[in-house]
Amino acid sequence: MTETLNSFAMAQRQIKTAIHKLGLAGSVYELLKEPKRTLTVLVPVKMDNGGIKVFTGYRVVHNDALGPGKGGIRFHPEVSLDEVKALATWMTFKCAVVGISYGGAKGGVMVDPKQLSRSEMERLSRAYVQAIAPLIGPEKDIPAPDVNTNPQIMSWMMDEFSIIQQHNSFGVITGKPLIIGGSAGRVPATAQGMVYVLEEAMQALKLTLEGANVVIQGYGNAGSYAAKILFDKKAKIVAVSDSQGGIYNPKGLNPFKISEHKAATGSVINYLGAKTITNAELLTLPCDVLVPSALENQITDQNAAGIKAKIIIEAANGPTTPEADRILVDKGIWVVPDILANAGGVTVSYFEWVQNNMGYYWAEEEVEKHLRRIMKEAFHRVYDLYREYPDIDMRAAAYMLAVKRVSEAMQVRGWLG
Ligand code: GLU
Repeated sequence: MTETLNSFAMAQRQIKTAIHKLGLAGSVYELLKEPKRTLTVLVPVKMDNGGIKVFTGYRVVHNDALGPGKGGIRFHPEVSLDEVKALATWMTFKCAVVGISYGGAKGGVMVDPKQLSRSEMERLSRAYVQAIAPLIGPEKDIPAPDVNTNPQIMSWMMDEFSIIQQHNSFGVITGKPLIIGGSAGRVPATAQGMVYVLEEAMQALKLTLEGANVVIQGYGNAGSYAAKILFDKKAKIVAVSDSQGGIYNPKGLNPFKISEHKAATGSVINYLGAKTITNAELLTLPCDVLVPSALENQITDQNAAGIKAKIIIEAANGPTTPEADRILVDKGIWVVPDILANAGGVTVSYFEWVQNNMGYYWAEEEVEKHLRRIMKEAFHRVYDLYREYPDIDMRAAAYMLAVKRVSEAMQVRGWLG
């Protein structure tokens, strides 16, 4: 029987396992199994042809025991309430794993951004913020970029919110351009944080990054920067992909040239000097490190048995299903889970928000230094738990650390009685 792929059910299962292993009271699950607040909005947008199109959007806060809600906004045709709920839930535990004082939130709009002009995109971004404005703010819930959203979109959203507030509110959103309160190092932060964690993971497994064969699924913000940073560290990038397909060259690819090709053609495919492959073929290529950097549910019970990587490090959110996790453990493949591996993005978002609140801005070296410390510490906290408890994988260890922190906060706040 093939497993059902519901990301939110998957998130609930992960929480349940951690609560059980930690021996916590059932009331903890009662407060974590559903988001604290979900908001669905209908967003009418005037299109360039004069007509109106109505988009459906969401903003979900899963939990705010540790601090205000935090999480990106996704623009994608397949966005659904359940997906946004899952992503918001994962943000709660991601922030808790790295120990930053945020809760978890997420937003999304059901839209194919490739079908919109720049001005339609601006009107949609502003209209969405108008719709969610009562519930966001620097002390309430702070959005950021996610799949198909970027600093320009954050900029329009921040501007719209500031118009509503009648004063500049830089701290309402992160991932902004530098000139209006963005942080140095925010754009590559997800990939950079992932590489810091990967270095520790490889050391723990007595492997080396230099010369390692790396396969990357997805060539958006996380995937493209992961490829570039790993290439600079002398790893061999043998294959990459995007939504159109993949490219493979066992002798290695140059990600800086691939980015130029993608900027010129819109995709990584048809890159000269590489074989075209499908996304399915890419996942089962022989390699040392596989970096899923695209969407959820990519590694499932249908393809996990064919995976040949030694380490999977999840730059995407939710790329591996629970059934696939089980198969990978049996095969001896180590999975560094999303809530740890890709927490670098939200960590530098936190630095950005701190800088906005202080009105004082850090140099890039300062950002990198703190990011590095936080990611490495988080890895070792998770790894210690992994070694301490029999029969758990790194994902369970990460959830245990995170659930423990969130439930402690809920306990002292009096939410658990
Ligand atoms: N969208 C990113 C994530 O999934 C970043 C979120 C943020 O910076 O708030 O972690």
